[in-house]
Amino acid sequence: MLVGFHCPRLNRDISFDQCFEDCPDRCMELPILLAMTEDIREPRVDTYSTTEILNPPKQIYLMRNNDYYVRPMDMTWMLFGSAFHGIVEDQRGNLPPDYSVEHDNSFRVEIDTPAGKAYLTGRPDQYQESTKTLTDYKTLKYYWDLYYIMEKNTWDESKYKWQLNIYRHYKFPEAVKMQLYALIKDYDKRLREKGIPPMIRVEVPMIKGELVEEFVVNKIGVILRNQKDPSTIGGCSEKDRWKGDIRCKSYCSVNRFCDYWMDKCLSDGAQATA
Ligand code: SF4
Ligand code: SF4
Repeated sequence: MLVGFHCPRLNRDISFDQCFEDCPDRCMELPILLAMTEDIREPRVDTYSTTEILNPPKQIYLMRNNDYYVRPMDMTWMLFGSAFHGIVEDQRGNLPPDYSVEHDNSFRVEIDTPAGKAYLTGRPDQYQESTKTLTDYKTLKYYWDLYYIMEKNTWDESKYKWQLNIYRHYKFPEAVKMQLYALIKDYDKRLREKGIPPMIRVEVPMIKGELVEEFVVNKIGVILRNQKDPSTIGGCSEKDRWKGDIRCKSYCSVNRFCDYWMDKCLSDGAQATA
């Protein structure tokens, strides 16, 4: 699990406590560092979150079975996303009674797979009873990520489609509509001049309940099997590694524990850590 920072000043791994207690020249202010780490908990061996199972099984195994470290600056956008969700949650007491948000929507269901049982958890951001609408808030780095989903219909490549359909199937099966409400982080004058707003709502396509269940059972089954017998771990697919191994290079905090990536670094001299 994530246990500390890769300190840019010392150029080595340190525990969170070492960073908090003893730094003469901070790369970030202490309240920001504390906020970044306050929700980090040791994962329960029998419990997997919806967002976790959308990652490749190999990456999940490596993240759960190694102590790893990340650079503080690489957690900046995650903190931004949490702050955006916090704004929604703060309005809990002011919303009409047919709205439920965040903590009120948490679920934990038992999933039975050929490799054993485990629990799936999730926390849909918002549900409105009167319109039967499930909403998930996102902070997106690039407008063009959303453009491709909306205009080129690349939903099959998007994990958001599965995330919202899992929420619907296991928590709000009566929902008739699912949507993303996305804040665009690279919003600029160019987008404004094209008439594009900085927050965009986009409807998410439905997936049949039996297909959602099949997806979840298969995914958790593979994760449990890998955990019991690491020799069964397959490699991440080309699609999961993202074009030209972008995920391995820049978005996989456990790449230093990955045989595929380390072999690649040895053969072409790529950077070893994300
Ligand atoms: S605040 Fe930054 S520079 Fe200071 S110990 Fe922590 S990671 Fe290193
Ligand atoms: S480095 Fe790449 S191949 Fe290895 S676990 Fe991470 S995403 Fe998968």
